Amino acid sequence: MSGADQRTEPVLRIEGVVKRFGEQSVLDGIDLEVAKHEVVVLIGASGSGKSTLLKTINLLEQVDDGRILLTRSTEGSTEGEPHTQDITDPRVDADAIRARIGVVFQHYNLFPHLRVLDNVTLAARKVFRTPRAEAERTGMALLERIGLGDKAREYPDRLSGGQQQRVAIARAIATDPELLLLDEITSALDPQLVGEVLDLVHELKTQGSTILMATHEMSFARRVADRVVYLKDGRIIESGPPAQVFDAPQREETRAFLARVR
Ligand code: ADP
Ligand code: MG
Repeated sequence: MSGADQRTEPVLRIEGVVKRFGEQSVLDGIDLEVAKHEVVVLIGASGSGKSTLLKTINLLEQVDDGRILLTRSTEGSTEGEPHTQDITDPRVDADAIRARIGVVFQHYNLFPHLRVLDNVTLAARKVFRTPRAEAERTGMALLERIGLGDKAREYPDRLSGGQQQRVAIARAIATDPELLLLDEITSALDPQLVGEVLDLVHELKTQGSTILMATHEMSFARRVADRVVYLKDGRIIESGPPAQVFDAPQREETRAFLARVR
């Protein structure tokens, strides 16, 4: 593939991904692309396969068929070649791939025995071998930016759930990942704490992050998604800009789902 073509390659390309647990095809032929700077939001009932899909991308689950390609773009940089890698190839270095992807889950994101700043700097220091002083400068700047500079020396259990999830996001972006995966990061929060976490995700979008996220927050999806993808029983039923999926769904199944969650 030529360099010019690769510059337009999506950051993430999922091709025909199948994942089975026993007899059940939890992912049943998923094709999905996420372009650089794009925010794609997965919606669907509990059990539809959203988390499993995100886990296959982070190599926490192996696919049974299909493949997942991750492309490092050279946009805004004069260094290095654009580079596409099949991350479902069994020979791949899973830790090296995970180092390029930031992940935040619903629960248990922070290491309870590490102070907030150490949580944020851990990957930079251990995986990227960034010197402590430099990692801490970056980490502090990040914490200041999300309004939690004063919590740097606290342990996670001294923070509210919303603050903890904001720290988890800071940790996920501290190493400048190519792709951010967010799996229902507000589902465990008290309703009054949801906004501050989603506002931070919105801010990341405006700063150009590439994000694939699962959420039940439909109003957030409408406001922030570039594309909404409706998943049912491991299949993509419908996908499009939020105005289309929410206001003029093409499929009866999508309409029925939206009627239930609204
Ligand atoms: P969602 O995140 O959309 O709620 P999941 O991806 O968690 O959906 O689950 C999809 C389906 O896969 C569910 O039926 C769930 O029970 C099943 N599943 C998920 N993980 C496992 C597992 N490790 N073993 C067996 N079944 C699983
Ligand atoms: Mg889930």
